[in-house]
Amino acid sequence: MKNIVILGAGTGGTLVANLLRSQLDLKEWQITIIDKSSVHVYQPGMLFIPFKLYGYSDVSDISRSIKKPIPDEVRLVIATINLIDHAKQIIETSEGNFSYDWLVASMGCYADANEVDGLADAMGKNVHTFYNPKSAVEMQQSLENMKEGRLLVNIAEMPIKCPVAPLEFAFLADYYFSKRGVRDNIDISLVTPYSGAFTKPVANEILSKVAREKRINVIPNFSLESVNSDSKQIKSFEGSTLDYDLVSSIPPNVGPAVSDDSDLGDGGGFFMTDARTLKSLKAERIFILGDNSNVTTSKAGSVAHFEAETVVDNILREIRGEKAQQTFDGHANCFIETGYHKAMLLDFNYDIEPIPGAFPTPGIGPFSLLKESYLNHMGKMTFDWVYWNMLLPGYLGNMPLLTAHMNLVGKDLRRLLRLNVQKQCLLRI
Ligand SMILES: Cc1cc2nc3c(=O)[nH]c(=O)nc-3n(C[C@H](O)[C@H](O)[C@H](O)COP(=O)(O)OP(=O)(O)OC[C@H]3O[C@@H](n4cnc5c(N)ncnc54)[C@H](O)[C@@H]3O)c2cc1C
Repeated sequence: MKNIVILGAGTGGTLVANLLRSQLDLKEWQITIIDKSSVHVYQPGMLFIPFKLYGYSDVSDISRSIKKPIPDEVRLVIATINLIDHAKQIIETSEGNFSYDWLVASMGCYADANEVDGLADAMGKNVHTFYNPKSAVEMQQSLENMKEGRLLVNIAEMPIKCPVAPLEFAFLADYYFSKRGVRDNIDISLVTPYSGAFTKPVANEILSKVAREKRINVIPNFSLESVNSDSKQIKSFEGSTLDYDLVSSIPPNVGPAVSDDSDLGDGGGFFMTDARTLKSLKAERIFILGDNSNVTTSKAGSVAHFEAETVVDNILREIRGEKAQQTFDGHANCFIETGYHKAMLLDFNYDIEPIPGAFPTPGIGPFSLLKESYLNHMGKMTFDWVYWNMLLPGYLGNMPLLTAHMNLVGKDLRRLLRLNVQKQCLLRI
């Protein structure tokens, strides 16, 4: 028997397991997936839990058994992964060693409050994070108690998974406090190391306008140095100090220590990855997808989904003795919940920044890019069902127009021309 081992049974790992299962001869191949957790969390649901919005109020609303979306033919091992010995092609875990012929690393990343002076100590007092299910539930009481004062939504440092989630949190806080009739007494600020609400110019312009309309202050260029929960202050490396009453914190997002411990990482906990083939840059027969990779697109479930196609295709190629292809284009898309039952949609890749338009069909949509709509909100709400029933089992790739490669159809390309950015990509049209 030959072995494919998948490290991590979250979004990326589970999808790859399902796709490989249907494409390999299982009399010849054993597929093993290893995860330390017995629970799979639908992370986008964590955004709504602090506000008890749209039916999300408890950890159980977003959690299922890790086994459920994994096919019976795939061996699931619950164990902590300690090391990848790529010279011997062996994985060392708390439950013993596993050898591999090909390996897929999809161990994600996690928010670690211990990375910032005073942050871990402040957690549960006047600081919470919705990047962790338990803390997201704990935040409910603090938000309910808040009738006046200053709420900071603070991104400690980049990169983080789902980079638009903090902005969504600020929009939902505006909606939540308005419904409770206390919005005029509460200052909401997004405190970010970015130079604005978002990195890319067109999206930044549009999202900053929405933030202004909702009276959300954007405080840029603030890299978190320390938190003092007694004096209720946060400090930045740039030298500024902000007072607060409550912080919704996004602590530094840390990749798996296994990457650097195994000499496969970039020194910051993320696997060194070829941006187009998704192969490890340090060892053969290892592919990387999802949040634990150091490629320069967003860390998002949609990205793990689009990357899975390249990873599976390239593993099958290498098994046949062919070269891995450079097929991944950095495609990412995500809904941005803006409150009042509305949302926006972003769609972009390595070369093309988010721009307005219709998605996936020109003129028809039904979703609108960089524009608030009720249908976008419905798309975001429906995604929970789509995640469990179509994305993880591997059926989403069969949907017309929802391609792993970003589609230019429906996008307002004049916007790009006007800004005179992305000339290189427009030449390809
Ligand atoms: C608040 C929030 C909102 C989000 N909203 C969206 C959204 O709207 N749209 C979107 O596309 N994305 C969203 N995301 C991001 C999305 O959830 C992640 O990008 C996606 O889950 C990444 O998949 P992954 O497979 O890389 O990692 P994960 O799904 O996190 O899976 C990693 C797995 O590896 C396991 N693991 C890690 N280390 C070890 C180890 N040493 N040993 C054993 N097992 C290990 C973990 O237990 C976990 O099961 C959101 C994230 C957050 C936090």
